[in-house]
Amino acid sequence: MEKKKVIYVSHCILNTATKVRKDAPVEEKPEERLRKKFLTQAIQNNIHIVQLPCPEHKLYGTERWGHTKEQFDHPHFRKQCREMLNPFMDDLKVYLQNTDEYEVLGILGIDGSPSCGVNFTCSGAWGGELMSNTRLSETLETICRVPERGVMIEVLKDMLQESNITIDFYGLDAMHPEVLNHLLE
Ligand code: SF4
Repeated sequence: MEKKKVIYVSHCILNTATKVRKDAPVEEKPEERLRKKFLTQAIQNNIHIVQLPCPEHKLYGTERWGHTKEQFDHPHFRKQCREMLNPFMDDLKVYLQNTDEYEVLGILGIDGSPSCGVNFTCSGAWGGELMSNTRLSETLETICRVPERGVMIEVLKDMLQESNITIDFYGLDAMHPEVLNHLLE
């Protein structure tokens, strides 16, 4: 019997409505093209897709600003991530206990995200009252891409480690589309 292939993905790989709102249309952005390519190929290859929760949308809704990792890196956010991920850990363990039937391909996050980044996240000295910030443009310019995981991915890695589970992580990143080839082959 052919094994059922399962992949866990960040929520917005299936539902981009949870992403931070942008003025410019996202349709033709390289990340969007890569997302659609991944989904098309995953379906064609009979890969079963599990959608992880979106912590930012659940905790801050659709009106949130774009954030940096530092703004989410606090105990309550981590605790909430853990609670959201707990039910997924249960299902994952079932797949891993039945390796004759299932093959878990990995976890696909969103590189650059403060929550779901795998290889990169965004960092910056953001925060505080916008109206009284007399150096707002300088504050905004502190944002940069750093080689760290987003907060939810860090929590997920911790949870996997606590259960002695090893799984490959991948990041959706338009600058490195080749990363997905291994996943989809
Ligand atoms: S928190 Fe994760 S799932 Fe939610 S929009 Fe950001 S990258 Fe996507």
